[in-house]
Amino acid sequence: MEIKAFEKRVFLASPTMHKEELEYIHDAFDKNWVTTAGDNVNEIEKIAASYVGTKYAVALSSGTAALHLAMKLAGERLNPGAKPARALEGMKVFCSDVTFDATVNPIVYEGGVPVFIDTERDTWNMDPEALKTAFSLYPEVKLVVVANLYGTPAKLDEIKKIVKDNGALLIEDAAESLGATYKGVQTGTFGDYNVISFNGNKIITGSAGGMLLVESEEDADKARKWSTQSREAAAWYQHEELGYNYRMSNIIAGIARGQFKHLEEHIALKKAIYERYKEGFKNLPLSMNPYIEAEMEPNFWLSCAIIDKDYICKQVRGEKEALYISESGKSCPTEILETMNKYNAEGRPIWKPMHMQPIYMNNAFINADGYARARSNAYIPRNGCADVGADIFERGLCLPSDIKMTAEQQEIVIEIIKGCFK
Ligand SMILES: *Cc1c(COP(=O)(O)O)cnc(C)c1O
Repeated sequence: MEIKAFEKRVFLASPTMHKEELEYIHDAFDKNWVTTAGDNVNEIEKIAASYVGTKYAVALSSGTAALHLAMKLAGERLNPGAKPARALEGMKVFCSDVTFDATVNPIVYEGGVPVFIDTERDTWNMDPEALKTAFSLYPEVKLVVVANLYGTPAKLDEIKKIVKDNGALLIEDAAESLGATYKGVQTGTFGDYNVISFNGNKIITGSAGGMLLVESEEDADKARKWSTQSREAAAWYQHEELGYNYRMSNIIAGIARGQFKHLEEHIALKKAIYERYKEGFKNLPLSMNPYIEAEMEPNFWLSCAIIDKDYICKQVRGEKEALYISESGKSCPTEILETMNKYNAEGRPIWKPMHMQPIYMNNAFINADGYARARSNAYIPRNGCADVGADIFERGLCLPSDIKMTAEQQEIVIEIIKGCFK
C-alpha cells in the first residue's frame, strides 16, 4: 500500500472546541467582566470542585501556578509560624521522575531540593517500593509530589499510605489526568493539595489555566489571596505578605466552563484511540502504556507505546540530537517519530526523566535498592532494571492522540509504524 502524507497535520493533542465555550466568552463580554473575576471564574470553581470531588477549587492562571501555591501551603503547614522567604528552603522533596518539568520546578521556586523517585512498570508512575526506600534514606522528608502520567493514575493508595506512615504531606499533580479514576475515585483528590491544568493540549482546555483543589476553606482563601497580589482587607493596597498575579481570567474560565461539558466525551474518544492502537499493534513488538484494569480507569490523554527490548535498533541520544541505525525487523522511537513526521503526523518522545536533565544532574535519584545513579557494574537491581525511567524514555514514545483524528487516519498512522519494523 502506497501511503501519502496527511494533507492536514495529525496532531499529538490539540484543542477541540465546541460551541458553549464561545457562549461563555460572549457572556463575559456582555457583562464586561473581561478581567480576573466574574461569573465564569466563580462557576468553574464550583464545577471543578463538584466534578472532581473536593470541597474547594481555586481558579488560577496555570497548573504550574497551582503547583507553586500548593508548595507554599505545604511549606507553611510543615513549618507553622516560621516565615521563611521561601516556604521549602533547604527541604528535600520526593517527586515523580518521568514527568513534565512543571511538576518539579515549583519545588525549586520555594527553595526545596527535588529527590527523584524511580518509576514502576505497571503504570509508568512513581514506584511505591522506591518511595519506601527513599524514606528509609531520608526519614526527615515531609513532602511528596506525585504525578499521574499521561492520564494514568499512579498507585495512589499505596503511595498515600507510605506518605502518611511517614508523617508527610502529599501533593497530587493531576494536570494530565482530569477525569481519570482510581478505585472509582477521581484523581485530584488523593493529595493534601491537588492540581489540574487547562493548558492547550490537555484533555480539556481553557487555552491556559489551572486549578488548586483542596479540602480546607482556609487553604482555598489563602491561595485566592496570594493569587491576587496578597491584598489585605483595607481600603487601600495594604500588603503583609508576598503576592502573585496568578488568578484565572474570566475569559479563560469561560472556555474551560464550556469544555467541562465535553470532558466525558473527550475521554471516550481518547479511549477509543488507545484501543485502536492496541488492536493495531497486536502483531508488532510494541505494547501500550500500561494501567491496572481492575483498579483504574485512565482518561487516556496520550496513547504511548513501548518497543520490546529485542526489537530496538541502535539509537543514541545526546543532549539535543538523536541518531539511529535502521535495521530490518527493528525500530526505535527516533525512527518512528521521524517517519511519522515525514507523513505529517505528530508524535513525541516520552518525558525525559528529570534525573537525566542537566538542570537536575546533581539531585538524588532513588530506586527500590537505594541510590540509583552511578552504580557499579556488579549491581543487579531487584526489579531487573536499575533505571526504569531511562528505559521507558529509551524505548517508548507518545503517539498522535488528537480526538479529531479519524479512525481512517489512525489506521494510516498504524501502517506507518508497521512500516518502521519492516
Ligand atoms: C501540563 C502539566 C503541568 C502544568 O500545567 P500548566 O497549566 O501548563 O502550567 C504540570 N504537570 C504536568 C504533569 C503537566 O503535564
